[in-house]
Amino acid sequence: MAHRAAHRTLKPEQIPVTQEITTTVAGLSDLLRQQRQAFDTAGAVSAADRRRRLQTAIDLLVKYHKPLVQAMDADFGGRPQGYSLMNDVLGSLTSLKYARDHFEPWMASEPRTPFPPYDQFGAQAWVMYQPKGSIGIIGTWNAPLFTLFSPLASALAAGNRAILKPSEVVPETARVVAEAIAEMFDPLDVGVVTGGPDMGEAFTAQAFDHIVFTGSTQVGKTVMRNAAQNLVPVTLELGGKSPAIVSRTADLATAAYRIGVAKAANAGQLCVNPDVVYVARPQLEDFVAALKRTTGELFPGGAPSADMVAVVNARHLERVETCIREAVAAGARVEYAPSAPDSTDRRRPLGIVINPPATSRIMQEEIFGPAVVIRSYDSIDEVIADINARPRPLALYYFGEDEAEQSHVLERTLSGGVTINEAMFHAAMEDAPFGGVGASGMGHYHGREGFIEFSHVRTVFKAPAYDPRREWGLLPPYSDQFLAMMEAQVTP
Ligand code: NAD
Repeated sequence: MAHRAAHRTLKPEQIPVTQEITTTVAGLSDLLRQQRQAFDTAGAVSAADRRRRLQTAIDLLVKYHKPLVQAMDADFGGRPQGYSLMNDVLGSLTSLKYARDHFEPWMASEPRTPFPPYDQFGAQAWVMYQPKGSIGIIGTWNAPLFTLFSPLASALAAGNRAILKPSEVVPETARVVAEAIAEMFDPLDVGVVTGGPDMGEAFTAQAFDHIVFTGSTQVGKTVMRNAAQNLVPVTLELGGKSPAIVSRTADLATAAYRIGVAKAANAGQLCVNPDVVYVARPQLEDFVAALKRTTGELFPGGAPSADMVAVVNARHLERVETCIREAVAAGARVEYAPSAPDSTDRRRPLGIVINPPATSRIMQEEIFGPAVVIRSYDSIDEVIADINARPRPLALYYFGEDEAEQSHVLERTLSGGVTINEAMFHAAMEDAPFGGVGASGMGHYHGREGFIEFSHVRTVFKAPAYDPRREWGLLPPYSDQFLAMMEAQVTP
């Protein structure tokens, strides 16, 4: 294995590295080969082994949460450590603990009913949930722990081994994750590789037993193309423009407050962040005023505030600000929350972009930053038509008190998940699958569905001693009676 042994120490805590951190494609191939060999040799993966691996991941996060949140703060150029604890450390711990405390009954084989007449003759059938083998997991920069450890929870619960690739956009975090995994895990259970897009390409070209990719829709297509070369199944956790619909029946102040709070989370750099908010035309000004009030309440001194998350790097800041500038040039109105931005700091107030043209970039691309689009509407059906004319979003939000309208919206749209009268909460559900649909992805993790995603659901049929086919005239040489018997069964 071509490896770089990682001997760097971390402050304030030191991480003694025992596993080597893989940084080369040859090393990755070798690690995967060894994991698969270990998987084949080990046979059935006991509940105790699964629990031990899940517990190791939990212990890792508990032991290294401080260097991890410090690294995230440094990588973002400002990410409150309490926020990183909540979003990434506790978000991951919740998934891992939920999996640890619930997976055991999911492992049991399930009896199924054999078809007639074999059911009468004593046939048996069941489905087994078997681990697939080695799962490759690629994470993003925006939630750098959650996008690795939350899918890992489902993968380990299902009895798999895994190799993780953190995002190179947050290099300090990637290094601490790699060193912590190297220290805590047997590489045959959970390994780690570091690198950027080139390593991503090589990673997805490996014959894993399943790949989980979290990232952009554009890169997701490359991942699926690479995985197809080896027929590797993929879970794609992608992004998109998640809409929020504010019904005329909504409590406007509450809706604006909750959307404002969601937009402040990670400075809008979350895959399920509300991107386009549809507000009834007569309520537009009241909504914008309430949204600005919320931002002012959360960050009383304006931007930059120590409680704000910074945009992760200059490239992403430029991307978001260009979108806003272009919208203004195209005639959109833009409202900033109280204070003006500081050019040396990447923490920004929320840019509220009102009614940009449908063709503008901010209406075409995922914002993924401290900006939001507000669009006024005259009828809910016009909103539904606009949502359906776009790629399927990862999330959809409905704020309102009209049950009939709520059903109308849910039944006529499709999105990865939905939260009603809040934003983003469905993604925190451990007892339900999290994933996208269409352009926002495929497959899911979390809950029993996550366990099934990383299991091979294997059907077993056990034949009875007696085979009726010869006696019943169902085998060659066929008689005329056989044809008549078959004909008789072609019924509606
Ligand atoms: P990205 O697609 O640029 O990168 C994601 C990961 O893919 C990184 O680890 C990167 O190194 C790797 N990568 C880059 N090029 C690759 C290639 N050619 N082949 C294989 N891997 C490659 O995404 P990002 O900027 O890190 O994250 C932002 C996007 O992720 C947004 O679209 C956001 O909505 C989405 N996202 C989705 C979820 C979800 O759960 N659905 C969660 C977080 C972020």
